Amino acid sequence: MTDRKTELAENLANVEERIARACAAAGRRREEVTLIVVTKTYPASDVRILSGLGVRHVAENRDQDAAPKAAACADLPLKWHFVGQLQTNKVRSVVGYADVVQSIDRARLVTALSKEAVRAGREVGCLVQVALDADATGRGERGGVAPAGIEELADLVAGSPGLRLDGLMTVAPLTGEYAGREQAAFGRLMDLSTDLRRAHPAATMVSAGMSADLEQAVAAGATHVRVGTAVLGVRPRLG
Ligand SMILES: *Cc1c(COP(=O)(O)O)cnc(C)c1O
Repeated sequence: MTDRKTELAENLANVEERIARACAAAGRRREEVTLIVVTKTYPASDVRILSGLGVRHVAENRDQDAAPKAAACADLPLKWHFVGQLQTNKVRSVVGYADVVQSIDRARLVTALSKEAVRAGREVGCLVQVALDADATGRGERGGVAPAGIEELADLVAGSPGLRLDGLMTVAPLTGEYAGREQAAFGRLMDLSTDLRRAHPAATMVSAGMSADLEQAVAAGATHVRVGTAVLGVRPRLG
């Protein structure tokens, strides 16, 4: 446990340093970027250590793993972000612990989240997940909606009781015109955020960047980076 704490502290310091450098290079203040540590596949004991090291935002992508972990960490001052593709039959559980759902990708999900948030007496923050590699079906390989679908979903979230429209999220595409061009992809997300904020000025969150590309996300203007591997280590299985 002590060794794990040392390891996580070192990794966290390294990531902090990367974020600080990226902010300095972009002429941004460090406080403009929030670190979300993606704890998927790692145990609640790691979440507890991270909390002790000052982490305040964690993310998970599977309800089966996240629900028991969040319950085991309910005493900690953490905000939980849900970043995975979300089936409507998991919505009730997710609303029980998630402060923000970053993977809003269809109207049916919004309706289900609203219903359960109202039932639970909670307000859930929502990010529309943007697929910059969306094909003709309007959907991306790694989830999300095509840019053309943002407005309709955003309006629906904004008009739904129990939900709060916080902004946009993306995962850098592996295919399509933005493959290998993370900075351009995140720049496009920023433009879409600017458009969104004309109608929804409070929707200021821009969640982009992971372990491999957080510098590009910070350079583009992201407000939140989601970092897993660089803090916790290479995951034992795909998650
Ligand atoms: C796993 C995951 C991350 C973190 O990825 P790393 O490469 O491990 O930093 C970020 N965002 C989403 C949506 C993820 O599923």
